Amino acid sequence: MLEVHVLASGSDGNCTVIQFEDRAVMIDAGLSYKKIRELMNFNGVDESAIDALLITHEHSDHIGGAGVVARKLGVPIMCNQNTFDASDFGAVNYSPIVTLHSFTVAGMNILPLPTSHNAAEPNAFLFDTGDKKVLVATDTGKLTYQVEHALSEADIAVIEANYDKHMLDVGPYPLCLRQLIDSEVGHMSNVACAEAIKKTMNDKRQIFLAHLSKKNNTPDTARDTVSKITGIKRYKLDCLEFAGDTRVLKA
Ligand SMILES: [Zn+2]
Ligand SMILES: [Zn+2]
Repeated sequence: MLEVHVLASGSDGNCTVIQFEDRAVMIDAGLSYKKIRELMNFNGVDESAIDALLITHEHSDHIGGAGVVARKLGVPIMCNQNTFDASDFGAVNYSPIVTLHSFTVAGMNILPLPTSHNAAEPNAFLFDTGDKKVLVATDTGKLTYQVEHALSEADIAVIEANYDKHMLDVGPYPLCLRQLIDSEVGHMSNVACAEAIKKTMNDKRQIFLAHLSKKNNTPDTARDTVSKITGIKRYKLDCLEFAGDTRVLKA
């Protein structure tokens, strides 16, 4: 059994657990250990099953609780050297990884893929159990070739639909931040996400829309836009609906 627990997704904090049989890995810990523990309990994730904490990049919504979480769980932090150097995890057990070099944790083959984002060396991750594949790809201003390929073969894809362009344009953010979000090293819009899904169409794939902006997007707007462009029925496009919401996807 392969389970993807989306415990938090967005600028208030990101944390996902991928569980394969009786082992698991956590991706990002942008919330406090206390909050993550609550969310894990709520979702039925056994924290003793977690073997490692993978980090996508050093922004605080991804690493805010990472040092404490790694120490409390007694697991290594795994990320590339540039991300580690740009972060301050405190005293942790660090296990370096290299972008595009796969490694095995929790019985899964894990491939770190390059994303395009204003961070030191940001990564998406493709998890392969030998039978099923899960892609977790957020915080990328454009779809890199490698993420596009992974998206085409994923059974479950957690992919960013960060903002609605109109909401961003008329929203509260200062111009420089709006320009950064909308740039090639920012985030993926609902339209960009939809076009990526359409380009890699795969009927068996489950799509989860991730990292929705609270200010520049709504769950309905994201689902409507992606549904219109891809033709995927709206009810099949899932995302977190409110603060504290969580989800389990199974393959
Ligand atoms: Zn983020
Ligand atoms: Zn980021």
